[in-house]
Amino acid sequence: MKCRQCGRTAVMHMRPYRLSLCEKHYDGWFVDQTKRTIRTYDMFGHSDRILVAVSGGKDSLSLWDVLLRLGYQVDGLYIDLGIDRGERYSARSREFVERFAASRPGTTLRIADLNADYGETLQEVARHTRRARGKPCALCGLIKRHAMNRVALDEAYTVLATGHNLDDEATALFGNVLHWQTGYLARQAPVLPADSAGLARKVKPLCRRYERETAAYAILAGIEYIIDECPFAAHASSLRYKDLLNRLETDSPGALLQFYGKFLKQREDGLFEAQAVELHKCSHCGQPTSAPDLCAFCRLWPDNE
Ligand code: SF4
Ligand code: ZN
Repeated sequence: MKCRQCGRTAVMHMRPYRLSLCEKHYDGWFVDQTKRTIRTYDMFGHSDRILVAVSGGKDSLSLWDVLLRLGYQVDGLYIDLGIDRGERYSARSREFVERFAASRPGTTLRIADLNADYGETLQEVARHTRRARGKPCALCGLIKRHAMNRVALDEAYTVLATGHNLDDEATALFGNVLHWQTGYLARQAPVLPADSAGLARKVKPLCRRYERETAAYAILAGIEYIIDECPFAAHASSLRYKDLLNRLETDSPGALLQFYGKFLKQREDGLFEAQAVELHKCSHCGQPTSAPDLCAFCRLWPDNE
């Protein structure tokens, strides 16, 4: 297979677009496509201060790398949940992030460490929280969102970016449709505007990039990342959905892009209207919440009650 741009041997063939590219032209293509998504959805500009939530995986580190190459003011945030189970998952992920940050001068790595800040790891909080019933995944998103908002607010970032790729978005969409979670469908978007309490805008600049595309970018750019999945992921239903969607994509290349792209179009046309929820400040941390007093995060800690 030859590169469409220069005729040299292609390293990446993308069936959905019938496009093959060599190493150099794939790199340029990936950066251009990310730039295009940022523009299409009017995600942010060069005056914004961007905080990328990094997990140590290929997507978030690639995003941080591309945004730096595009000249944005961007720093990284690693949220250390203390996930261990014998394989030091959080500690090892953190090492990848720290190595990445150390090799890129002019950008800052911020760390939110659950155990250091609140005295418990994710597994420990899940053990004593009724809503988690011992399952860390039930609290993971809540804790990460709270940490991202806190750091963005404290350090005056205007944009919070995450490395969700097309496979992630299509999988979330599939799960939301399967259970007709219309509230989630209304909020599943490449951009969520800043909310009334002045919290940062949330964006997903890689939402139109297939997972294999971000993996290829990371490998070709020489980014070292953690390959292992979180040890709690093994039983997640999202993995089953992802597997199903991958098979669909293999049979009909471009299916995921169409599924997600057409959903976004319907969403723009108002198919899923977000319900207006009245928010006020949590009496403990000050973050917006719809609960009457403490936000869901502050209610995790018995001393706050
Ligand atoms: Fe969090 Fe995902 Fe790990 Fe569950 S599997 S604890 S949601 S990172
Ligand atoms: Zn709170």
